Amino acid sequence: MENSVTQTPATHETAPLLVAIDGPAGSGKSSVSRAVAEALSYGILDTGAAYRALAWAALEEDVNLDDPIAVEEVLDDWGFSISLKGAQVVIVCGADATHEIRDPGVSKQVSRVSQHAGVRERLNRMFLSIVAESGLPGVVIEGRDITTVVAPDAPVRILMTASPEVRAKRRTGELSGSSEAEVLAAILERDAKDQLVVDFMNPAPGVTLIDTTELDFAQSVQAVIDVVRAAEARA
Ligand code: C5P
Repeated sequence: MENSVTQTPATHETAPLLVAIDGPAGSGKSSVSRAVAEALSYGILDTGAAYRALAWAALEEDVNLDDPIAVEEVLDDWGFSISLKGAQVVIVCGADATHEIRDPGVSKQVSRVSQHAGVRERLNRMFLSIVAESGLPGVVIEGRDITTVVAPDAPVRILMTASPEVRAKRRTGELSGSSEAEVLAAILERDAKDQLVVDFMNPAPGVTLIDTTELDFAQSVQAVIDVVRAAEARA
């Protein structure tokens, strides 16, 4: 599988400290992870962006998303790259798909791609090699199965949750043209589909639960940084 990382040349000699963050849509996981990475001068790897990029590429190629073999064929030659620092840039099949992968049409279809075990295995291997080759002192890696499947040995593992109503409110603020009730329905539908593949609602043993229902953005960022600092102190 072709993949690459767009960023400054490798400078850090030891393996990056991994901060693994799981959680459902709207929990604050993506924006909080990004702010934490920035505050710590770490990279950020948004694994959902890779699943979205794959769904987008498969839709562009008119591939049946329910066919695991056909979806894996897209992975054989998809020329994927994602930036780990600065504003997110996602390149797929030679095109900048940074904005296209956020399209509601992609959000609606992406679970059909992420349901395939073979696809997950290949993407998980790709995530670990992107981190290993990053040359950064640390990388925050966020997604749905990161604390359990992708990086079960990460020194920091966090499950970030929030009530469905709070998650819908946050997402409605990010999207235009949809009511809160519509966003809540879409979130519950996607949670239900994703939950069939990965349990991202309950923390696995050793994983720190951060419930952001009652926390504002700055408090959520600080809660994660506190867990990272405690791990650094133990290291
Ligand atoms: O995080 P985001 O909402 O962008 O993820 C998009 C989709 O990618 C999820 O709904 C899920 O189907 C899939 N995904 C996954 N495992 C991950 C990250 C995302 O299955 N680690």
